[in-house]
Amino acid sequence: MPVATGTAALAIALEACGVGAGDEVVVPGLSWVASASAVLGINAVPVLVDVDPSTYCLDPAAVEAAVTDRTRAITVVHAYSAVADLDALLGIAERYGLPLIEDCAHAHGARYGNWPVGAFGAAGAFSMQGSKLLTCGEGGAVITDDPEVAIRAEHLRADGRILRRDAVDVGEMELLETGRLMGSNACLSEFHAAVLVDQLDLLDGQNARRSRSADHLSARLSTLGLTPQATSAETTERSYYRYAVRLPDDVLAVAPADRIAQALTAELGFAVMQTHRPLNDNPLNRPSTRRRFALDREYAARVNPARFDLPAAKRIHESVVSFGHEVLLAPLDAIGDIAVAFEKVLAHVGELAD
Ligand SMILES: *Cc1c(COP(=O)(O)O)cnc(C)c1O
Repeated sequence: MPVATGTAALAIALEACGVGAGDEVVVPGLSWVASASAVLGINAVPVLVDVDPSTYCLDPAAVEAAVTDRTRAITVVHAYSAVADLDALLGIAERYGLPLIEDCAHAHGARYGNWPVGAFGAAGAFSMQGSKLLTCGEGGAVITDDPEVAIRAEHLRADGRILRRDAVDVGEMELLETGRLMGSNACLSEFHAAVLVDQLDLLDGQNARRSRSADHLSARLSTLGLTPQATSAETTERSYYRYAVRLPDDVLAVAPADRIAQALTAELGFAVMQTHRPLNDNPLNRPSTRRRFALDREYAARVNPARFDLPAAKRIHESVVSFGHEVLLAPLDAIGDIAVAFEKVLAHVGELAD
Protein backbone atom coordinates (compact mmCIF):
# COMPACT_ATOMS: atom_id res chain seq x y z
CA MET A 1 0.00 0.00 0.00
CA PRO A 2 1.60 3.29 -1.10
CA VAL A 3 1.83 6.10 1.48
CA ALA A 4 3.20 9.65 1.51
CA THR A 5 6.49 9.06 3.38
CA GLY A 6 8.56 6.32 4.99
CA THR A 7 7.85 7.86 8.38
CA ALA A 8 4.10 7.54 7.73
CA ALA A 9 4.68 3.94 6.61
CA LEU A 10 6.33 3.11 9.95
CA ALA A 11 3.69 4.85 12.04
CA ILE A 12 0.83 3.23 10.10
CA ALA A 13 2.46 -0.23 10.27
CA LEU A 14 2.84 0.09 14.04
CA GLU A 15 -0.67 1.36 14.63
CA ALA A 16 -2.16 -1.21 12.25
CA CYS A 17 -0.44 -3.88 14.38
CA GLY A 18 -2.22 -2.54 17.46
CA VAL A 19 0.48 -0.35 19.01
CA GLY A 20 -0.83 2.76 20.80
CA ALA A 21 -0.52 5.28 23.58
CA GLY A 22 2.15 4.52 26.18
CA ASP A 23 3.25 1.23 24.58
CA GLU A 24 6.97 0.50 24.36
CA VAL A 25 8.45 -0.15 20.91
CA VAL A 26 11.96 -1.51 20.46
CA VAL A 27 13.90 0.76 18.07
CA PRO A 28 17.52 0.39 16.85
CA GLY A 29 19.80 2.94 18.49
CA LEU A 30 21.70 3.59 15.26
CA SER A 31 19.26 4.85 12.62
CA TRP A 32 17.65 7.85 10.98
CA VAL A 33 15.55 9.86 13.44
CA ALA A 34 12.32 8.56 11.84
CA SER A 35 12.85 5.26 13.69
CA ALA A 36 12.10 7.17 16.89
CA SER A 37 9.81 9.94 15.61
CA ALA A 38 7.36 7.50 13.98
CA VAL A 39 6.92 5.81 17.38
CA LEU A 40 6.51 9.16 19.16
CA GLY A 41 4.00 10.15 16.46
CA ILE A 42 1.56 7.49 17.68
CA ASN A 43 2.06 8.44 21.36
CA ALA A 44 4.14 5.34 22.02
CA VAL A 45 7.59 5.15 23.66
CA PRO A 46 10.74 4.39 21.63
CA VAL A 47 13.02 2.03 23.56
CA LEU A 48 16.47 2.51 22.03
CA VAL A 49 18.35 -0.77 21.77
CA ASP A 50 21.99 -1.31 20.84
CA VAL A 51 23.19 -2.80 17.57
CA ASP A 52 25.56 -5.54 16.49
CA PRO A 53 29.14 -4.22 16.06
CA SER A 54 29.66 -5.96 12.71
CA THR A 55 26.26 -5.61 10.95
CA TYR A 56 25.18 -2.29 12.62
CA CYS A 57 21.65 -3.79 12.84
CA LEU A 58 19.66 -4.62 16.01
CA ASP A 59 21.51 -6.94 18.38
CA PRO A 60 19.07 -9.78 19.21
CA ALA A 61 20.53 -10.31 22.71
CA ALA A 62 20.08 -6.60 23.49
CA VAL A 63 16.49 -6.77 22.18
CA GLU A 64 15.66 -9.67 24.45
CA ALA A 65 17.13 -7.81 27.44
CA ALA A 66 14.99 -4.73 26.62
CA VAL A 67 11.61 -6.52 26.45
CA THR A 68 9.29 -5.65 29.36
CA ASP A 69 5.60 -6.28 30.07
CA ARG A 70 4.86 -2.94 28.33
CA THR A 71 6.64 -3.86 25.05
CA ARG A 72 4.14 -4.04 22.16
CA ALA A 73 6.36 -4.24 19.04
CA ILE A 74 9.90 -4.58 17.71
CA THR A 75 11.07 -2.46 14.79
CA VAL A 76 14.20 -3.52 12.93
CA VAL A 77 16.14 -1.52 10.34
CA HIS A 78 18.12 -3.34 7.67
CA ALA A 79 20.82 -0.70 7.94
CA TYR A 80 23.02 0.76 5.17
CA SER A 81 23.87 -2.44 3.28
CA ALA A 82 23.05 -5.18 5.77
CA VAL A 83 20.10 -7.42 6.50
CA ALA A 84 19.47 -7.90 10.22
CA ASP A 85 19.55 -11.30 11.90
CA LEU A 86 15.91 -12.03 11.08
CA ASP A 87 15.95 -15.62 12.35
CA ALA A 88 16.93 -14.52 15.85
CA LEU A 89 14.62 -11.49 15.85
CA LEU A 90 11.61 -13.44 14.58
CA GLY A 91 12.32 -16.03 17.28
CA ILE A 92 12.21 -13.34 19.99
CA ALA A 93 9.08 -11.74 18.47
CA GLU A 94 7.33 -15.10 18.49
CA ARG A 95 8.45 -15.99 22.01
CA TYR A 96 7.02 -12.78 23.45
CA GLY A 97 4.01 -12.54 21.09
CA LEU A 98 5.19 -9.24 19.56
CA PRO A 99 4.84 -8.04 15.96
CA LEU A 100 8.17 -7.47 14.17
CA ILE A 101 8.06 -4.43 11.87
CA GLU A 102 10.81 -4.37 9.23
CA ASP A 103 12.01 -0.89 8.25
CA CYS A 104 13.33 -1.44 4.72
CA ALA A 105 14.15 2.21 3.95
CA HIS A 106 17.72 1.11 3.06
CA ALA A 107 16.94 -2.31 1.72
CA HIS A 108 14.73 -2.26 -1.38
CA GLY A 109 15.33 -5.60 -3.10
CA ALA A 110 17.56 -7.17 -0.42
CA ARG A 111 16.98 -10.85 0.28
CA TYR A 112 17.37 -13.14 3.27
CA GLY A 113 17.26 -16.89 2.61
CA ASN A 114 16.26 -15.96 -0.96
CA TRP A 115 13.12 -14.21 0.29
CA PRO A 116 12.67 -10.41 -0.01
CA VAL A 117 13.04 -8.35 3.17
CA GLY A 118 9.86 -6.69 4.35
CA ALA A 119 8.01 -9.98 3.92
CA PHE A 120 9.27 -11.60 7.14
CA GLY A 121 7.65 -9.53 9.87
CA ALA A 122 4.02 -8.65 10.61
CA ALA A 123 4.54 -5.67 8.29
CA GLY A 124 7.28 -4.03 6.22
CA ALA A 125 7.78 -0.28 5.82
CA PHE A 126 9.59 1.34 2.89
CA SER A 127 10.68 4.92 2.16
CA MET A 128 10.88 6.29 -1.37
CA GLN A 129 12.33 9.65 -0.31
CA GLY A 130 14.92 11.26 -2.58
CA SER A 131 18.02 9.64 -1.07
CA LYS A 132 16.72 6.06 -1.23
CA LEU A 133 17.39 3.23 -3.68
CA LEU A 134 13.91 3.52 -5.20
CA THR A 135 12.53 7.05 -5.22
CA CYS A 136 9.88 9.44 -6.47
CA GLY A 137 11.09 12.41 -4.41
CA GLU A 138 8.97 11.68 -1.35
CA GLY A 139 7.01 8.48 -0.82
CA GLY A 140 6.63 5.27 1.12
CA ALA A 141 4.83 1.93 1.32
CA VAL A 142 3.50 -0.55 3.85
CA ILE A 143 3.41 -4.24 3.00
CA THR A 144 1.80 -7.07 4.95
CA ASP A 145 0.29 -10.49 4.32
CA ASP A 146 -2.15 -10.13 7.22
CA PRO A 147 -5.58 -9.04 5.90
CA GLU A 148 -6.57 -7.47 9.24
CA VAL A 149 -3.35 -5.39 9.40
CA ALA A 150 -3.90 -4.40 5.76
CA ILE A 151 -7.44 -3.13 6.26
CA ARG A 152 -6.46 -1.17 9.36
CA ALA A 153 -3.52 0.35 7.45
CA GLU A 154 -5.88 1.41 4.65
CA HIS A 155 -8.16 3.22 7.12
CA LEU A 156 -5.20 4.91 8.84
CA ARG A 157 -3.84 6.17 5.52
CA ALA A 158 -7.01 7.71 4.07
CA ASP A 159 -8.99 9.44 6.83
CA GLY A 160 -10.92 6.33 7.82
CA ARG A 161 -11.72 5.34 4.23
CA ILE A 162 -10.73 2.28 2.20
CA LEU A 163 -10.50 1.72 -1.54
CA ARG A 164 -13.75 0.37 -2.95
CA ARG A 165 -13.42 -3.19 -4.22
CA ASP A 166 -16.16 -2.79 -6.84
CA ALA A 167 -16.10 -0.64 -10.00
CA VAL A 168 -16.98 3.03 -9.61
CA ASP A 169 -19.11 5.10 -11.97
CA VAL A 170 -17.82 8.34 -13.42
CA GLY A 171 -17.84 11.03 -10.75
CA GLU A 172 -18.10 8.58 -7.82
CA MET A 173 -15.48 8.47 -5.05
CA GLU A 174 -13.12 5.50 -5.17
CA LEU A 175 -12.91 5.66 -1.38
CA LEU A 176 -15.57 4.17 0.87
CA GLU A 177 -16.30 5.93 4.18
CA THR A 178 -16.50 3.04 6.64
CA GLY A 179 -15.51 5.05 9.74
CA ARG A 180 -14.38 1.77 11.36
CA LEU A 181 -11.02 3.22 12.34
CA MET A 182 -10.15 6.89 12.34
CA GLY A 183 -7.21 7.83 10.14
CA SER A 184 -5.51 10.86 8.70
CA ASN A 185 -4.22 11.67 5.21
CA ALA A 186 -0.97 9.93 4.27
CA CYS A 187 -1.90 9.09 0.66
CA LEU A 188 0.68 9.04 -2.13
CA SER A 189 -0.42 10.76 -5.33
CA GLU A 190 -0.96 8.67 -8.47
CA PHE A 191 1.60 10.87 -10.17
CA HIS A 192 4.30 9.77 -7.71
CA ALA A 193 3.16 6.15 -7.87
CA ALA A 194 3.58 6.20 -11.66
CA VAL A 195 7.19 7.35 -11.28
CA LEU A 196 7.85 4.52 -8.82
CA VAL A 197 6.34 1.81 -10.99
CA ASP A 198 8.64 2.94 -13.79
CA GLN A 199 11.72 3.01 -11.51
CA LEU A 200 10.97 -0.46 -10.20
CA ASP A 201 12.13 -2.00 -13.50
CA LEU A 202 15.62 -0.56 -12.91
CA LEU A 203 16.05 -1.63 -9.29
CA ASP A 204 17.35 -5.20 -9.61
CA GLY A 205 19.91 -4.26 -12.27
CA GLN A 206 21.17 -1.31 -10.23
CA ASN A 207 21.33 -3.40 -7.05
CA ALA A 208 23.41 -6.02 -8.87
CA ARG A 209 25.78 -3.37 -10.19
CA ARG A 210 26.17 -1.77 -6.76
CA SER A 211 26.87 -5.17 -5.19
CA ARG A 212 29.58 -5.91 -7.74
CA SER A 213 31.24 -2.53 -7.06
CA ALA A 214 30.99 -3.04 -3.29
CA ASP A 215 32.56 -6.51 -3.48
CA HIS A 216 35.41 -5.10 -5.55
CA LEU A 217 35.98 -2.19 -3.15
CA SER A 218 35.68 -4.37 -0.03
CA ALA A 219 38.37 -6.73 -1.33
CA ARG A 220 40.71 -3.77 -1.89
CA LEU A 221 39.96 -2.00 1.42
CA SER A 222 40.32 -5.22 3.44
CA THR A 223 43.96 -5.47 2.34
CA LEU A 224 44.45 -1.96 3.82
CA GLY A 225 43.20 -3.14 7.23
CA LEU A 226 39.69 -1.69 6.93
CA THR A 227 36.60 -3.74 7.86
CA PRO A 228 33.60 -3.42 5.52
CA GLN A 229 30.12 -3.62 7.08
CA ALA A 230 29.05 -7.26 7.45
CA THR A 231 25.58 -8.69 6.95
CA SER A 232 23.74 -11.55 8.67
CA ALA A 233 24.68 -15.09 7.66
CA GLU A 234 21.44 -15.90 5.83
CA THR A 235 21.60 -12.83 3.56
CA THR A 236 21.41 -13.91 -0.08
CA GLU A 237 21.26 -10.45 -1.69
CA ARG A 238 22.50 -7.14 -0.33
CA SER A 239 21.22 -3.74 -1.36
CA TYR A 240 23.76 -0.99 -0.86
CA TYR A 241 22.02 2.19 0.32
CA ARG A 242 25.29 3.36 1.83
CA TYR A 243 28.69 1.71 1.59
CA ALA A 244 30.14 1.67 5.13
CA VAL A 245 33.57 0.59 6.33
CA ARG A 246 35.34 0.63 9.70
CA LEU A 247 38.72 2.36 9.93
CA PRO A 248 41.64 0.51 11.55
CA ASP A 249 42.19 1.18 15.28
CA ASP A 250 45.77 2.35 14.76
CA VAL A 251 44.52 4.99 12.30
CA LEU A 252 41.75 6.12 14.67
CA ALA A 253 44.34 6.46 17.41
CA VAL A 254 45.94 9.20 15.28
CA ALA A 255 42.90 11.12 13.93
CA PRO A 256 39.13 10.94 14.51
CA ALA A 257 36.70 9.51 11.92
CA ASP A 258 35.16 12.90 11.07
CA ARG A 259 38.56 14.33 10.15
CA ILE A 260 39.34 11.28 8.00
CA ALA A 261 35.91 11.52 6.33
CA GLN A 262 36.61 15.18 5.48
CA ALA A 263 39.96 14.28 3.94
CA LEU A 264 38.34 11.49 1.90
CA THR A 265 35.65 13.93 0.72
CA ALA A 266 38.32 16.39 -0.42
CA GLU A 267 40.26 13.62 -2.17
CA LEU A 268 37.27 11.97 -3.88
CA GLY A 269 34.99 14.91 -4.68
CA PHE A 270 31.87 13.29 -3.20
CA ALA A 271 30.59 13.29 0.36
CA VAL A 272 32.14 10.73 2.72
CA MET A 273 30.52 10.85 6.15
CA GLN A 274 30.21 9.14 9.48
CA THR A 275 27.16 6.95 10.11
CA HIS A 276 24.05 8.37 11.79
CA ARG A 277 24.60 9.69 15.27
CA PRO A 278 23.24 7.26 17.88
CA LEU A 279 19.65 8.20 18.74
CA ASN A 280 20.41 8.68 22.47
CA ASP A 281 22.74 11.53 21.52
CA ASN A 282 21.33 12.95 18.29
CA PRO A 283 20.33 16.60 17.90
CA LEU A 284 17.36 15.59 15.71
CA ASN A 285 15.92 13.29 18.38
CA ARG A 286 14.84 15.72 21.10
CA PRO A 287 11.20 15.20 22.13
CA SER A 288 11.67 17.84 24.86
CA THR A 289 11.64 20.55 22.15
CA ARG A 290 7.94 19.81 21.40
CA ARG A 291 5.17 20.51 23.86
CA ARG A 292 3.05 17.66 22.51
CA PHE A 293 5.41 15.17 24.20
CA ALA A 294 4.99 16.85 27.58
CA LEU A 295 1.58 15.16 28.10
CA ASP A 296 2.55 14.33 31.65
CA ARG A 297 5.78 14.13 33.59
CA GLU A 298 6.04 10.35 33.46
CA TYR A 299 5.61 10.22 29.67
CA ALA A 300 8.14 13.03 29.17
CA ALA A 301 10.67 11.04 31.23
CA ARG A 302 9.98 7.80 29.35
CA VAL A 303 10.59 9.41 25.93
CA ASN A 304 13.85 11.08 27.00
CA PRO A 305 16.46 9.45 24.67
CA ALA A 306 19.31 10.25 27.07
CA ARG A 307 18.15 7.47 29.43
CA PHE A 308 19.56 4.80 27.08
CA ASP A 309 23.12 3.52 26.82
CA LEU A 310 24.31 2.48 23.32
CA PRO A 311 28.04 1.66 23.42
CA ALA A 312 28.16 -0.37 20.20
CA ALA A 313 26.27 2.32 18.23
CA LYS A 314 28.63 4.96 19.64
CA ARG A 315 31.68 2.98 18.65
CA ILE A 316 30.34 2.47 15.10
CA HIS A 317 29.68 6.20 14.82
CA GLU A 318 33.22 6.94 15.95
CA SER A 319 34.98 4.40 13.73
CA VAL A 320 32.99 3.98 10.48
CA VAL A 321 32.90 6.15 7.36
CA SER A 322 30.34 5.78 4.56
CA PHE A 323 29.16 7.16 1.23
CA GLY A 324 25.98 7.01 -0.84
CA HIS A 325 24.73 4.36 -3.25
CA GLU A 326 24.99 6.50 -6.41
CA VAL A 327 28.80 6.23 -6.30
CA LEU A 328 28.60 2.44 -6.62
CA LEU A 329 27.03 2.74 -10.08
CA ALA A 330 30.39 3.99 -11.41
CA PRO A 331 32.53 1.71 -13.63
CA LEU A 332 34.88 -0.70 -11.80
CA ASP A 333 38.07 1.22 -12.62
CA ALA A 334 36.59 4.30 -10.94
CA ILE A 335 35.73 2.11 -7.94
CA GLY A 336 39.42 1.16 -7.85
CA ASP A 337 40.24 4.89 -7.57
CA ILE A 338 38.23 5.02 -4.32
CA ALA A 339 40.56 2.42 -2.82
CA VAL A 340 43.53 4.48 -3.99
CA ALA A 341 42.11 7.56 -2.21
CA PHE A 342 41.67 5.59 1.05
CA GLU A 343 45.25 4.36 0.78
CA LYS A 344 46.54 7.91 0.28
CA VAL A 345 44.55 9.38 3.19
CA LEU A 346 45.58 6.58 5.56
CA ALA A 347 49.23 7.01 4.56
CA HIS A 348 49.03 10.70 5.49
CA VAL A 349 46.80 10.35 8.57
CA GLY A 350 49.52 11.92 10.72
CA GLU A 351 48.80 15.25 9.01
CA LEU A 352 45.17 15.05 10.22
CA ALA A 353 46.12 14.77 13.90
CA ASP A 354 45.48 17.66 16.29
C1 LIG B 1 14.64 7.53 5.28
C2 LIG B 1 14.32 6.66 6.44
C3 LIG B 1 13.03 6.59 7.01
C4 LIG B 1 11.92 7.55 6.73
O1 LIG B 1 11.65 7.89 5.49
P1 LIG B 1 10.98 9.27 5.02
O2 LIG B 1 10.41 8.88 3.71
O3 LIG B 1 12.09 10.28 4.92
O4 LIG B 1 9.94 9.66 6.00
C5 LIG B 1 12.80 5.66 7.99
N1 LIG B 1 13.76 4.83 8.43
C6 LIG B 1 15.01 4.88 7.94
C7 LIG B 1 16.02 3.93 8.47
C8 LIG B 1 15.34 5.80 6.95
O5 LIG B 1 16.60 5.86 6.47
